[in-house]
Amino acid sequence: MKKESCFIIRREVLFDWVETLMKEEKILAPVETDDGKFAFEFLNKAEEIRLNYDTTNLPPTQKIFMPQDEKVITWKKVDGKTVFGPGDGPTPMVVFGMHPYDIHAIKVWDDVMGEKRNALADPQYLAQREVTAVIGLDVIVPPPNSFCESLGTHIATENYDIMLTDLFDGRYFVEVATHRGMSLFLSVSDFDDATPNDHKLRRLVREEIATRYPETLPVPIGELHEFLEKRIHHPYFDVTGELCVACAKCTFVCPTCTCCNIKEEPALDGQSGCRVRECDSCQLPGFTKMAGGVIARKSPGARVRHRILDKFDYHHGCAASCVGCGRCVRACPADIADPIKALNLLRDEEVPHE
Ligand code: SF4
Ligand code: SF4
Repeated sequence: MKKESCFIIRREVLFDWVETLMKEEKILAPVETDDGKFAFEFLNKAEEIRLNYDTTNLPPTQKIFMPQDEKVITWKKVDGKTVFGPGDGPTPMVVFGMHPYDIHAIKVWDDVMGEKRNALADPQYLAQREVTAVIGLDVIVPPPNSFCESLGTHIATENYDIMLTDLFDGRYFVEVATHRGMSLFLSVSDFDDATPNDHKLRRLVREEIATRYPETLPVPIGELHEFLEKRIHHPYFDVTGELCVACAKCTFVCPTCTCCNIKEEPALDGQSGCRVRECDSCQLPGFTKMAGGVIARKSPGARVRHRILDKFDYHHGCAASCVGCGRCVRACPADIADPIKALNLLRDEEVPHE
């Protein structure tokens, strides 16, 4: 849509708007948890939203697209025959307050699970994507350990319906980007058109916040492929692998990790059951186990290498499939998952191909 689809609303109006949306929609938004952190949860009331959250432990993408133990199909025996039924089906929702780096992660999901995969596209994903509206929120407190600015993921330019920016004067800049966004915005009770000064203010706010990201990618994005290809046999991977306890937390908290497992769950009477999808992780030893018991990435070092290559070399259609959120850094009990530390250590010594 055009630039005219930019508006200004006051903070109190924004909360009234959410209250109105809640009458029609399920709203997934950042709320404060008992331990003072933040999590994306379905709202009970608008005041629960925390617009100043830094980040969440679990990314919204996982909550939206990979709910735990999602039933893919169900089945039951009828007159001796197996009859298949639908699984859980998609949950229509508005995701409110998604940060740009998490919105960038949607692009990776689209590339791995979406329409571009043609016949390989995941029908559960496509169905959920269709009924998910995204109201983004520009970051005001960059997450600890994050490096989004150096990846260009601190600002989103696609994959949202509306983008909000706190102008730090009691007002929010509202960019309506899609027709679905406009239909959501129509329930705002009071707003003004954004003026050229408001556009300028949004740009200045974004530029100021961009300087506050605590970490920077040590290798330019365009050089990552060659950098890593030259270090495939770097001792860093095996040394670090020795410290890894294979808990998989670094992948479970990663907004761009899409791997899943499918398992059959028959009922005890054998007359019905379901096929369930659950999160899986390349950091678990059994992830690459094949028929005959062969494990493709048997050594911990091979699994550590795979994760770094997956984020910075196998691009999934993006410049990098790490969005720089820093969640893995905080989640790792062995303190070895930090991509910045990994790239710095890899940079120290170049090991040629064998
Ligand atoms: S690899 Fe770490 S920093 Fe990068 S997107 Fe995943 S969790 Fe965030
Ligand atoms: S979180 Fe750390 S210890 Fe756990 S699998 Fe990842 S790298 Fe290994």
